[in-house]
Amino acid sequence: MLTAALWSIKGDHRAATSFRLPLKFSAELFVKKFLVGSLVLLTVFSGLNFGQTARKPAAATAQKRADFSVPFVNKTLANGLEVIVLQDSSVPLVTVELAVRNGSFTESPEFHGLSHLYEHMFFKPNMAAVLQACESSPNRFSLPPICSKATDLRSKIGDLAYLSNVGKVDSLRNGTTREEIVNYFFTTTRDYLATAIRHVNDSVRYPVFDESEFENEKKVVIGEIDRHEANPFGYLELAMKQKLFFKYPTRKDPQGTRESVGTSTLEKMRTIQSRYYVPNNAALVVTGDAKPEEVFKLAEQILGSWERRPVDPFKEFPLVEHPPLSKSEAVIIERPADTMADPRGGQNVFVNLGWHGPSIGKDDAATYAADVFSYIITQPNSQLQRNLVDSGLASSVNFGYYTQRNVGPINLILVTSPEKSKQALKAVYAEINAFTQANYFTDEELESAKTILENNDLFEREKSSEYAHTLGFWWSSTGIEYFRGYHAKLRAVTRADINKYLNTYVIGRNRVAIALVTPDGKKQANLTEQDLIGGGQ
Ligand SMILES: [Zn+2]
Repeated sequence: MLTAALWSIKGDHRAATSFRLPLKFSAELFVKKFLVGSLVLLTVFSGLNFGQTARKPAAATAQKRADFSVPFVNKTLANGLEVIVLQDSSVPLVTVELAVRNGSFTESPEFHGLSHLYEHMFFKPNMAAVLQACESSPNRFSLPPICSKATDLRSKIGDLAYLSNVGKVDSLRNGTTREEIVNYFFTTTRDYLATAIRHVNDSVRYPVFDESEFENEKKVVIGEIDRHEANPFGYLELAMKQKLFFKYPTRKDPQGTRESVGTSTLEKMRTIQSRYYVPNNAALVVTGDAKPEEVFKLAEQILGSWERRPVDPFKEFPLVEHPPLSKSEAVIIERPADTMADPRGGQNVFVNLGWHGPSIGKDDAATYAADVFSYIITQPNSQLQRNLVDSGLASSVNFGYYTQRNVGPINLILVTSPEKSKQALKAVYAEINAFTQANYFTDEELESAKTILENNDLFEREKSSEYAHTLGFWWSSTGIEYFRGYHAKLRAVTRADINKYLNTYVIGRNRVAIALVTPDGKKQANLTEQDLIGGGQ
């Protein structure tokens, strides 16, 4: 599921949208000061909570159940652009999101981290802004060369009047890059729906790719990489991905490296644009106070002329096949003590166990079973929580599957102390081996987990600005039809489905175990590789 993502690159990737002509031409022009992109990334800790909830499970014996399916409507334009609308008129806001099937899953080593760099370039002033600056320049006879390029696009770009409203859709704007999606979104009042769609249109179709902006964004992205690696979890994440997806690690790491980002070129940005930023590889998602018919009409008017790519990019550049692990492996990483302190006193030991989970399109049934099972065992009163957390062996244990088209990872994260880590790991493996026993969870727990999953979705739907990202996420990795049937499919999951999923992907399967410890903690814990991979199993 979506919330099981351990880490994604979350940005606050803003830049002004008016275009600044080269200085010598622009003295009299209206120029808005560019905001330098400020960025954050990585919600590492929040991501560790795989949907554990303190809410009490609802009674499993609901009488006649309401229909919880998500009432979105969708339509595919002739050029292949998917338009998805979830109307919620409780407040007069709309969120407009452009989702693109790009991200690390498309990245060979020479494109490592460049979906993310592209994301940073997306909201730079586009040709519409350039055109406006050129047309309003009092100095008509000495315009820079870019103006003739912009003028050539005049008939395609169309009405520029919307640019005066762009500031009104800009304040709540952002983008994110994950393994299997890049998205861009605005939240604004409903009156600016068309402005936001026009802004998306001109940004996606008519980028400027200005050299100095590009050099600047490289630095910004490298700064994000530095921050990511300074965080112990960033480090842990990378180590896990490199082991789990050993043959094609770049396909799972949206971050990239200083080198891959630093040596990137605008030519590569244009390559990414021509391959992936095409209507038949994108979706326009609108949530909030907008009628589907109105959105479909605007999408057709504004984005209908966007030219379809003759060949589906994933046919021309297929996903790699991540080879299965040939053996279980353990890695112990030492971290300085100041990054490993437990706020309640003492030191933490973090252990991450990882497996290859199911892929969308290959074993969809297992993906539903995976989500239900994760919810069962992360409930506070589940056997796993009782035996690990209530017993005092661990301060937390989480288990989740991250839905992906190209091998979704299954992760178990254990937080314990140096003195208890050996015993805690022993207990974890005893639990794993008991997962498929008839009494491991009750029928009531099974049904409660489904109800909680549905309830969580309803809570999420309450905030429709965020729900646009949920729809975009599923559209990109699974296709929107998978999500339409999601809750009904979860309801249908049986104990046998869960056991099949666990036997296929988890129990006795090759795994990667990574421990983060301090140098002192390492001596005290005396963990061996066999402890970490659950020796002999
Ligand atoms: Zn970023």
